[in-house]
Amino acid sequence: MIAYDVTCTNGHTFEGWFADNASFEDQKSRKLIDCPYCGTTRVERIPSTFAIGNRQKARAESADMMPHIDTITQLRRYIEKNFEDVGEKFADEAVKIHYGETDKRNIRGTTTQEEERRLKEEGVAFVKIPIIRYDS
Ligand SMILES: [Zn+2]
Repeated sequence: MIAYDVTCTNGHTFEGWFADNASFEDQKSRKLIDCPYCGTTRVERIPSTFAIGNRQKARAESADMMPHIDTITQLRRYIEKNFEDVGEKFADEAVKIHYGETDKRNIRGTTTQEEERRLKEEGVAFVKIPIIRYDS
């Protein structure tokens, strides 16, 4: 059995247990999965961050997650190669680039929630991708 996070069209999220993804799709198509909050059967699976973060488990549980993981890994490799790592200064550098105070370039780094809020307020475009750690 696998626990999937499920969301309904009204924005509620809840957890459901299914034998596998096919079982989820089958039950969904037969409208057997309903939201415990509002009762709608219009539900979708939320990709599990836990499954994405743990390669072994993801492979064992759901083979269809793998292309997604490969895409994130490739994206991460691309970013590591082509983006300058500014570490914790990401927010400061992003704002400087936004206002033309420093050279326009691709950067990567880490932000706190507070810094992300600031970037949004300043209208700075940024993308968040998950950092994957593979446990050996
Ligand atoms: Zn609902």
